[in-house]
Amino acid sequence: MAADYYELLGVARGASQDEIKKAFRTKAHQHHPDKAGGDSDKFKAINEAYQVLSDPQKRQQYDQYGQTFDQARRQGGNAGGFGGFPGGGYSGNVDFGDLGDIFGDMFGFGGGRRQSARQSRGRDIAASLPIDFRTAAFGGEQTLQLNHAVVCQRCQGSGAEQGSAPVTCATCHGSGQVQRVQQTILGAMQSIGACPTCHGEGTTIQNPCGRCRGEGRIEQRESLTVKIPAGIAAGQKIKLSGKGEAGRRGTPAGDLFLEVEVKPDPTFERADDDVLVTATIPLTVASLGGVVDVMTLDGNVGLKIPAGTPAGKVLVIKGRGIPHLRGRGRGDQRVTIDLDVPKHLSAKAKKLLKELQAEGI
Ligand SMILES: [Zn+2]
Ligand SMILES: [Zn+2]
Repeated sequence: MAADYYELLGVARGASQDEIKKAFRTKAHQHHPDKAGGDSDKFKAINEAYQVLSDPQKRQQYDQYGQTFDQARRQGGNAGGFGGFPGGGYSGNVDFGDLGDIFGDMFGFGGGRRQSARQSRGRDIAASLPIDFRTAAFGGEQTLQLNHAVVCQRCQGSGAEQGSAPVTCATCHGSGQVQRVQQTILGAMQSIGACPTCHGEGTTIQNPCGRCRGEGRIEQRESLTVKIPAGIAAGQKIKLSGKGEAGRRGTPAGDLFLEVEVKPDPTFERADDDVLVTATIPLTVASLGGVVDVMTLDGNVGLKIPAGTPAGKVLVIKGRGIPHLRGRGRGDQRVTIDLDVPKHLSAKAKKLLKELQAEGI
């Protein structure tokens, strides 16, 4: 699991380059492998974080896309959907400029960092996406109902009634800004502010759309189908660019961030990419050895029980776990053995067990 670079360095998201450099020096000094109490893994992680955050371009890309799985970039061009992952999959060296890859869990919802840069844009939306265990494991499609602002179809987002169009604002002549001159004791003071007539938009609507009342967007329930990549885990996020709130009067829509929630499964549990199950086996099989059927995601599999297997023993079925989200292969299935101690014994069974007891078993 990739750690957050800001957390690694112990700096705020808005930290300056100087603060980042300073934090890096302190941390690098603290964890240097040559020092007593040093930690080379930690040192490497800090170094990696610094390589990204100290480079303004890489940092911006990290801020923007971080470790989000960006679905929108997958849609369209690639008809094969998620089958089209680059064969080599994820490598340790991530080129943040090439987002044709999946990243693991992303840090929060962005804290509004990008909002300030793009003022006239619909808001981002965060929502949870419940999927079942199997869909998380093998991928698939999940439909979701979402109430959000969408572009008004009547005015195509312009906000102007059909047959009319927004007109250039008479107050600011389209610039969206007005100059004000105030007389003060220090003389004339000039300031620039948003135009009070058009609120900075540069256009006004004389005949507002009857459906959206000039907003260019309306609240609507929409059904979205989301592609789920195989191996995704609870807490990871899927980003759908442009599926957030529609912008006012035709400005770009925000993004939709879906946090995956995995519904509990009656049989399987998950630990990273391993699947955990409990198998209850007869006392005789535990003692003498044998083969029992165990449920896996691929159906029943015969599991060899070595003679003398104690309760609580964990046996591993290789490659029957969750497909790795990054790259090829699957995790394992780990089977915890439980013993089936009979509650009702036939007379014969009782007699045989007593004989065993006499043997000291
Ligand atoms: Zn409209
Ligand atoms: Zn104006």
